[in-house]
Amino acid sequence: MPSDTNKLTPRLVGEFRSIVGPEGCLDQPEDLRCYSYDLYARGFPELVLLPSDPDQVCRILALADRHRIPVTPRGAGSSLTGGPVPLCGGISLSMARMNQILEINVVDRLGRVQPGVVTQDFQKAVAARGLFYPPDPASSPFCTLGGNVATNAGGPRGVKYGVTRDYLLGLTLVLPGGRVLTTGGRSMKNVTGYDFTHFICGSEGQLGVISEITFKLLPHPECVHTVLVLYQNLADAVGSVMQILGAGIIPSTLELMDDHFLKAVDRIYGLDFPAEIGAALLIEVDGPERTVIDQTAAIVRLVQANGARDVRRAETSKDREKLWEARRFGTAALVRQARFLVTLDFSVPISRIHEAVTTIHSVARQQDLEVVIIGHAGDGNLHPMFIYDPTDDTQAAAFKAAEATLCEAMIRISGTLTGEHGVGIEKAAYLSLEKSSLEIELSRQVKQVFDPNLIMNPGKCEWAQTQKITPAFRIT
Ligand SMILES: Cc1cc2nc3c(=O)[nH]c(=O)nc-3n(C[C@H](O)[C@H](O)[C@H](O)COP(=O)(O)OP(=O)(O)OC[C@H]3O[C@@H](n4cnc5c(N)ncnc54)[C@H](O)[C@@H]3O)c2cc1C
Repeated sequence: MPSDTNKLTPRLVGEFRSIVGPEGCLDQPEDLRCYSYDLYARGFPELVLLPSDPDQVCRILALADRHRIPVTPRGAGSSLTGGPVPLCGGISLSMARMNQILEINVVDRLGRVQPGVVTQDFQKAVAARGLFYPPDPASSPFCTLGGNVATNAGGPRGVKYGVTRDYLLGLTLVLPGGRVLTTGGRSMKNVTGYDFTHFICGSEGQLGVISEITFKLLPHPECVHTVLVLYQNLADAVGSVMQILGAGIIPSTLELMDDHFLKAVDRIYGLDFPAEIGAALLIEVDGPERTVIDQTAAIVRLVQANGARDVRRAETSKDREKLWEARRFGTAALVRQARFLVTLDFSVPISRIHEAVTTIHSVARQQDLEVVIIGHAGDGNLHPMFIYDPTDDTQAAAFKAAEATLCEAMIRISGTLTGEHGVGIEKAAYLSLEKSSLEIELSRQVKQVFDPNLIMNPGKCEWAQTQKITPAFRIT
């Protein structure tokens, strides 16, 4: 073992720099700061590398593994769980320069990309060819496809179209040491051997670096209609979710927003909501025109029979954009008013959404914390957003208590710790609530197979940890 193991000596930094060139190597304090955070936590890298091709990624991972230097892959850093935050120093490996769309094939209905492509850029590029890439995290204007695969990102369209994993045909993963694993392929059907493609999806940078992705694409939907339904109370809105899905209608989007969220966005953007607004559903239906017209009419009838106070409809893309304003700008509006905001992520069976919402409110009340609830309600995915002052010890402790109570409560009602944001730092301590000891042990063994020296994104999931690591800086 070399004597400088685990240490980024000036000589080693020089070797990394010679791989990526001076323009792909950042080590000044102000640069390191830019790569030190996401929306949940902070931890500084010692070096930032921005490879521009897969060969550079291989050489970086070979050198880093030889010297046991931690490597934390980074897309756009839009994670809400601390996933791309380097907890053990080492290298922040940004994929920002590997941002080429390599192929869009209309006949094979697939797209092949480098990991740093911004999700919305890909959506637009495939739409220009009459195709459709459904996964649409609300962060799609800035997050990357590599980050989406690494977290198995979802989004509003999950209710009908599923998550990133459902569109993966194959990928390339560079392993520590520099070996290259190519999984899956270009065929729509493929059941040869173990399914590494889908296993790697959601691995949060802990097994290797995703350097290329092949996605399955769909034909673009012929028609889309949007409906914004306003309610006087949250219970009616949740009731409508169950009624719509229970009637056998699967909208492409079924988003829930509570009164705090709506009032915040109305205050700043003036969306003309009634003063007594209690909740809203943003519903979108897509498909052949006739089906869309019939399903929209059926939805309007159902919500009107279930306490809707106002139903706003849109059929043109300009009007639809207007109805999306509350959902799109709500978080920004809250952030402008709040000192600090943490977005949690739980998923529960549809029949338990009401219970989940009630529990979230009662836990927030118990801890004397302000909470806002939004969610992709159509697939039971809820995002309680807690607003508090992290510099106030009492409030910080109250938030930690609320987070722990909610993790337990959501598991108790057959929910899951995370529906789309991933584990990162945020949920790492709670994994054993959901995973059996056998699953944790097998995960630990798999991790060892891919990454025997434990250099990939260390300090996050329990099975990846060799020791308890204290984050350099943790927003609590
Ligand atoms: C306003 C807002 C709205 C959001 N809405 C949604 C939503 O609707 N649905 C949703 O699922 N998420 C949402 N998110 C969370 C976040 O955008 C997603 O998790 C997204 O997939 C992260 O992509 P990224 O490129 O920013 O990755 P990063 O945040 O940089 O990284 C995320 C994880 O992926 C790993 N990683 C990144 N690239 C690679 C790679 N090439 N190889 C291996 N590992 C890699 C990192 O190490 C890290 O663990 C939202 C975030 C914000 C700020």
